Amino acid sequence: MKLQKKLLFSFVLIVLLSAILFSLLSYGSIDKNLLQYMGAVRENRLNQYEQLFRNYYLTRGSWDGVESLLQGMAAEGGRRWGRGIGMGRNGPPSFTSGTPEELLLLSPEGVVIADSTSSRIGEKISPDTYKGQIRPLYDEKGERIGFILLGLSPQSGYTRLENSFLKSVNEAVWISGGIALVIAILISLLISVGLTRPLKKLTQATQGFAKGDWSKRVKIKSNDEIGALALSFNRMADRLEQLEKVRKNLIADVAHELRTPLFILRGNLESMLMKGDPPNEERLALLHDETVRMAHMVNDLQNISLAEAGKLPLHKEKVNLISLVQKVVQIFSAQLEEKKISIHLDLGEELTFVSLDPKRIEQVLVNLIGNGIRYTPNDGVIEITGRREGERMIISVRDTGPGIAPDDLPYLFERFYRSDKGRSRTEGGTGLGLAIAKGYVEAHGGSIQAENHPEGGSIFTIRIPLESDNDL
Ligand code: ADP
Repeated sequence: MKLQKKLLFSFVLIVLLSAILFSLLSYGSIDKNLLQYMGAVRENRLNQYEQLFRNYYLTRGSWDGVESLLQGMAAEGGRRWGRGIGMGRNGPPSFTSGTPEELLLLSPEGVVIADSTSSRIGEKISPDTYKGQIRPLYDEKGERIGFILLGLSPQSGYTRLENSFLKSVNEAVWISGGIALVIAILISLLISVGLTRPLKKLTQATQGFAKGDWSKRVKIKSNDEIGALALSFNRMADRLEQLEKVRKNLIADVAHELRTPLFILRGNLESMLMKGDPPNEERLALLHDETVRMAHMVNDLQNISLAEAGKLPLHKEKVNLISLVQKVVQIFSAQLEEKKISIHLDLGEELTFVSLDPKRIEQVLVNLIGNGIRYTPNDGVIEITGRREGERMIISVRDTGPGIAPDDLPYLFERFYRSDKGRSRTEGGTGLGLAIAKGYVEAHGGSIQAENHPEGGSIFTIRIPLESDNDL
């Protein structure tokens, strides 16, 4: 069943149940309280009729011409009764106004002398069977002169006025129940449309996704759970679109990166085989370099994938990080000397005994320091600082190079990303260096960040959590 129908169904069910419950309860309460009240009113009416009919008899000495009084009384009684229970003298017409009272006058022997509906005259009635609706009449000597009797409906046991009143109450209950039902249906339609419209939008967007349309987003701004769902969906969509782009780019990039070394290898091998060019040492070394480069790239890609999947094997041991940094700086001594770049080390003593995988962290440092040297002009400075901050160690490599364009910052750590797209692979690296650094640092549970230093140059910071107190 559709959500809209389910909501409509539940609302209607709730209203129907409440109407039934309400009428059951109200009937119970009418029986108890309202009927008690009506009984009192009936008693009062009998008192008034007793007074009037007695006076009539006493002034005339007989019941002659009493029919006209009786009919007038009955009609007036109906109006008064109506006003008493209804909306009042100046209010709208009451539900019982105009309903004549059924009133009978009996002789002392119980024979109907006069009747407001003129249908039961002459009928013999036993006063004892009409308790609560009959009243005896006496003259000043205490002699019984007759009875007045309020007629009751044989089916319900109420007078016509009381019946009419109960019918009105009944109608009011059902009319209000009906109105409540209509209102409930309207509200349920409004709510269900409000609920299902954004859900439909979400469904359309997910169907678009299933068909490969990654551009689909939903525009829902409500502050409820559906709004939160739409927000999560849009975030997921952004991420999936980005991943899809990365996946496509990766394949294109790998193909691109392999094409050049394969082209060099193939060209050289073909010229040796077909044209009979002799394989000299220089040429073989070049070809060897290309195969090493390819193997390196494939290896790097594999390690990045492993790191991203959280499956990169780490061989942690207690390492003197200061010595490790010095070792890496030593690797670059020739380039540093050539470009006259000075290195400043500022490493806290507490970093002499930390638990990490030395090979992976060495690779991170090689990539960061190597990039720093590559992008720093002659006579520049590279500053490496390291210290403990709370439960983690922070190492940063700052250079005095051109810094990073703000547009490149978010993509710097992606595979094959190079801010200078025109730069040839021989001038720079493979574009995997920072992706490797990120993968290895994250495998240690840490994070890496690139920023532009306010005084120029770029600064790369890695933060790695310390494993335990034994670390330092
Ligand atoms: P590559 O091997 O091409 O250097 P990386 O992943 O190491 O690849 O770096 C990606 C890109 O980040 C580089 O192409 C370069 O544009 C930019 N980059 C990295 N380090 C620095 C730095 N120290 N200063 C300026 N730009 C940098």
